[in-house]
Amino acid sequence: MSTVKCIGILTSGGDAPGMNAAIRAVTRSAIYNGIKVKGIYRGYKGLLLDEIEDFRTQNVSNIIQRGGTILKTARCTEFRTPEGRKQCYDKLMEHGIDALITIGGDGTLTGARIFAQEFNYPIVGLPGTIDNDLYGTDRTIGYDTALNTIMECVDKIRDTATSHDRLFFVEVMGRDAGFLALNGAIAAGAEAAIIPEISLEKDQLAEMIETGFRKSKNSSIVLVAESEVTGGAMGVAERVKKEYPQFDVRVSILGHLQRGGSPTAADRILATRMGVAAIDALLDDQRNVMIGIKNDEIVYVPFSKAIKNDKPLKPDLLNALRIASI
Ligand code: ATP
Repeated sequence: MSTVKCIGILTSGGDAPGMNAAIRAVTRSAIYNGIKVKGIYRGYKGLLLDEIEDFRTQNVSNIIQRGGTILKTARCTEFRTPEGRKQCYDKLMEHGIDALITIGGDGTLTGARIFAQEFNYPIVGLPGTIDNDLYGTDRTIGYDTALNTIMECVDKIRDTATSHDRLFFVEVMGRDAGFLALNGAIAAGAEAAIIPEISLEKDQLAEMIETGFRKSKNSSIVLVAESEVTGGAMGVAERVKKEYPQFDVRVSILGHLQRGGSPTAADRILATRMGVAAIDALLDDQRNVMIGIKNDEIVYVPFSKAIKNDKPLKPDLLNALRIASI
């Protein structure tokens, strides 16, 4: 039987739609199981600065439909140092918090892993990032909403692209992972996606143009993952202007609007299931794991596996985009 009597919950790193649904589920599931909850504002930074508040069920009322995170989020450089983490540990002890639930991406879970090992402290992580780049889970919280936002934006860009017979490069988020670009391209019926996973292997732009992607179409839309490896939409467009001057090229960078908005039903359900599972994991004496979802089943993924581990793209997605866009 678990000895956890009081948990702290925080969101950290980049915000993602559905984080609020996760905060709500964690809080209510903890209270349901007789565990006290403290909300920690602004991630590890707020822990350090003592921005901590008792949470009751009312604190999480009317938030499931809201994007962003009511707990706010921040980057915290101090947490990268042993001294900073010791200060955080002291704060947790001061507040009687005997386990942490952290919601965030790769960086957040990396910090959580180091902290958990250093102080032998129980932490359960939830994958909250629009990039879907954590290993061991089919989906991360926020990914579905961001994907839908991208699809809606590209639908609109298509109207103007077709009216002017233009080639549009639309930049989407995903520094190291092409999930948003690839699946966004499939969902929006775009012609191609330029993604970091493939950029190192081959010249996607040259291949796209050499295969005559414009033979049967007057306008084209290509999604580009923002990344040093792909060069981003601006980099790709500059290259086209030099190497293929016959194209009338435009760039659209979707930027932060991909992070905002009310979460989709899929993200709300995922966040709620994962939030409840996080408390179940603690009650089950699970430590230092991320909650994941695999084939629609909740799984516990050790931090060491979830982070810094490449999550492969499914080859059939690449194939589907290639064939559907002829
Ligand atoms: P996103 O995927 O949306 O960018 P993220 O969680 O990866 O989210 P980061 O800014 O990389 O966002 O990390 C969030 C915080 O986690 C950092 O500000 C820092 O406090 C902590 N963190 C990240 N990496 C480490 C590390 N190697 N050691 C200790 N703490 C870390």
